[in-house]
Amino acid sequence: MAPRSSSRSVKRIVLLGAPGVGKGTQAEILSSECRIPHISAGDLLRDEVARKTKLGLQAKAFMDDGKLVPDELVIEMMKPHLSGSFILDGFPRTLEQARELDRIVKLTHVVELTAPTDVLIKRLTGRWTCTKCGGIFHESQHDISKCGKCGGKLYQRDDQKPDVVKKRLATYGELTMPLSAFYKRMKLLKQVESLGAPETVAEKIRHALGGKAC
Ligand code: AMP
Repeated sequence: MAPRSSSRSVKRIVLLGAPGVGKGTQAEILSSECRIPHISAGDLLRDEVARKTKLGLQAKAFMDDGKLVPDELVIEMMKPHLSGSFILDGFPRTLEQARELDRIVKLTHVVELTAPTDVLIKRLTGRWTCTKCGGIFHESQHDISKCGKCGGKLYQRDDQKPDVVKKRLATYGELTMPLSAFYKRMKLLKQVESLGAPETVAEKIRHALGGKAC
């Protein structure tokens, strides 16, 4: 059986939570603070799609439609990233993925970020992506006539459109929410309300991780 932690400093953190709850933002903060890799399943999949790899071609239709990519494809993609310390964002998303992850490594922390559904819908449907650099901007905080970083044209990805956003949230409720109970039973789950400024939420996560993140 894999050890829960092979060294005291190893951190194997999962950030759970619905699309739009801020997992990516918080994973970035933790990652730069603790100098451990932020592994986003969604980013890895989008990269496969952009490179038109075999996996990318298989995954694209599911992603565009707000559905989950089949477990076996996602698990194979994630395996090479599951050693040393890491912060996982967007994986696992089903019980099968969580069970497989537990067979591969023992996690040290699971933090579930929470926010009301209407807040999630506003966050997700207001996001625009840059065609050039991939930067994401929210219409409530940025001028969306062009990219604030590189001046590129902004567009809404298929999965940022209202119908698909609703589907993504429904999929989350059906397939990913059961992971809270799974990790609660393993006594790993900490819940943090993800409202307010990113730094405020980051402070709550540090607290949930025992005072400081790393
Ligand atoms: P995200 O950027 O994390 O919201 O992911 C974008 C899309 O990638 C999701 O809507 C799914 O279609 C797909 N995806 C990301 N992570 C997973 C996963 N762990 N399992 C299955 N599909 C995933």
